[in-house]
Amino acid sequence: MIRTKLTIFLIFLLVATSGSAQLLNPLKGVRILLDPGHGGADPGAVGPTGLKESETNLRVARYLRDLLTADGAEVHMTRSKDVYLTLGERVELAKKLKPDLFVSIHHNASLRPRKTNRSEIYYNALDQGLSQKAGKRMINELEAYGFGEESLIVPGGFFVLRNNPSPSVLTEGSYISIPHIEKQLKTGKALTNQAEALRRAIRETFAQGPLKINLFVSETPVKIDTPYFNFIFTANKPVKQIRARLSQADTGFGFDRLPPIGNTYRLYNTNALQSGTYDLQLTFYAEDGTIAPRINLPLQVELPFANSAIRPVAPFIPEGFKGKLPVVIDLRDQAGKLNTRSAQIKLVYKTDTEVSATSNSEGKTTVLLDLDGTETNPLNLELVHKAEVLARCKIPVMKPEKRFVIGRVMNQEQKGLEKVQIKYGLKETKTVDNGYFYLEYPRMYDNLELKVVPFSGYEPTTTWIKTAGEPVVFQNIVVKPVSQRLLGKKIGIMAPISFDNLLRGMVKDLMNSGAKISRLNMPENMQHPEYQAVLEVNLKNDYDLILSFKRETAGNIVARHYHRGGKGKFLADNLAFSLKNSDNPIDLAVMPGSDYEISHTGATSMVIAFPQMIPPDYPHRVISHLVQVLKSAF
Ligand SMILES: [Zn+2]
Repeated sequence: MIRTKLTIFLIFLLVATSGSAQLLNPLKGVRILLDPGHGGADPGAVGPTGLKESETNLRVARYLRDLLTADGAEVHMTRSKDVYLTLGERVELAKKLKPDLFVSIHHNASLRPRKTNRSEIYYNALDQGLSQKAGKRMINELEAYGFGEESLIVPGGFFVLRNNPSPSVLTEGSYISIPHIEKQLKTGKALTNQAEALRRAIRETFAQGPLKINLFVSETPVKIDTPYFNFIFTANKPVKQIRARLSQADTGFGFDRLPPIGNTYRLYNTNALQSGTYDLQLTFYAEDGTIAPRINLPLQVELPFANSAIRPVAPFIPEGFKGKLPVVIDLRDQAGKLNTRSAQIKLVYKTDTEVSATSNSEGKTTVLLDLDGTETNPLNLELVHKAEVLARCKIPVMKPEKRFVIGRVMNQEQKGLEKVQIKYGLKETKTVDNGYFYLEYPRMYDNLELKVVPFSGYEPTTTWIKTAGEPVVFQNIVVKPVSQRLLGKKIGIMAPISFDNLLRGMVKDLMNSGAKISRLNMPENMQHPEYQAVLEVNLKNDYDLILSFKRETAGNIVARHYHRGGKGKFLADNLAFSLKNSDNPIDLAVMPGSDYEISHTGATSMVIAFPQMIPPDYPHRVISHLVQVLKSAF
């Protein structure tokens, strides 16, 4: 009893003292990294009379540094002089310092002349927690300080945001390209006002004191051998909500408080996981509205093997056969799913012969048995992992009545292709794992014609099995890609639904060339459907190209690209060239664009916009030229 009272008293004391300390040093214990944009050889935007953005950014950052330091924060700068830093170097510093907030300071310029000023805040779109909260506070304070109306808060995917492990925002305080704003930015007043507005926003963001989470894990990556995990964590105040996301897997999450005392909780997943490596991203929200910096936890799930099987490629071994015989191994888990885990396995056959292999992340492995012709019927196989027998199999050894053919269909990189259709005579078969197939045909024929039809991305081919009468034949077949450049490339397409008819043929054509096409979700009823589509791209982080199609009221047909050029410009230039030199030339204007999807993903991107008044066949022709350009130049 006494003990409980004492604890309550101590907690009261703690709250009381930390409260008064906060009045004097409201940002005590908070670490901020300020990042003045550009610098050195890169001036950023330049005002009408030559004011450099890099210099203005640095001046605001210095004022802000002094103000935040006065509030008790620990403040760092990516640069405090006029020097050039790469975007990567800025992010590296954030990774090293792990600040509670990263603030990249910029000033805007418009591609089109504009008269009215406004500020824009971009927050890390991958973090709807503290980054968004800080961004909202900033936009409010900047408006209160007169930095224009209709200011914008935008989920951003700029490099320094997208790759930042800390809560992060990028501020565009005002437009340096507007003459009277440039004049203001040359005076100290506008700069200190901006710094003061940002300081207030940062103070509000951390007003309740930070939410600190302590997640108990013994090592990273966390090793898990069941389809479900359970983590214990404690917090310095009650937790109301957790947003959790697991890379490359769909699972639900739950959490509950562990009795009897304190803020101790259990976090768990609700759908079974498969073997593999994952990245678990967690954002914690406290009851008082504070948000903890996102936690990234790498997980390594290794489920035990069960239900595994040995599948010989051929139904039997020809008597006296000398050579390699492929055998497919399926490794599965207790739920019967392929176990996508890398492990050392071996196949033991005869009395003292074995062959080792490492299973791959697809849960399937092909092993070649080395046969010397002395095998007796049947050949017994055992699949072994760490002294445990996972599966057994008997392969008959017998005299073949027909010609016995084992083959493999592979690409030019010697990768075996699965599910390739092979037609011979009136029959057909399909390749299995690693591209192997088996077939037989009467001995009265020495030769056999094979028609090979791979799945999309590869050209069909015809080949001949030619023998000089031998009963057992090995046949390797190499197939060529339709387009080496598009094979395996991941392309995201953004377009309103009204483009469906126009794009259908292009999608089919690109898929036949081996590209993986995703139609990015553009919800009709959303104000900015492009935010959602770009977020999808950034979460997956494996897109090679984003193609965005739009309708515009006036002007030419336009292809827009990233302002510094790059591969998007290269493709747009190629498209313009191709259209200009066609039998029936079409003019396409190529220019840098400020479309959201262009600068907020790591993928190459290009926007193609069609005005309303153009001949009806133009869009189709532009798109068919685009497909040709992608096939030959991407
Ligand atoms: Zn800038």
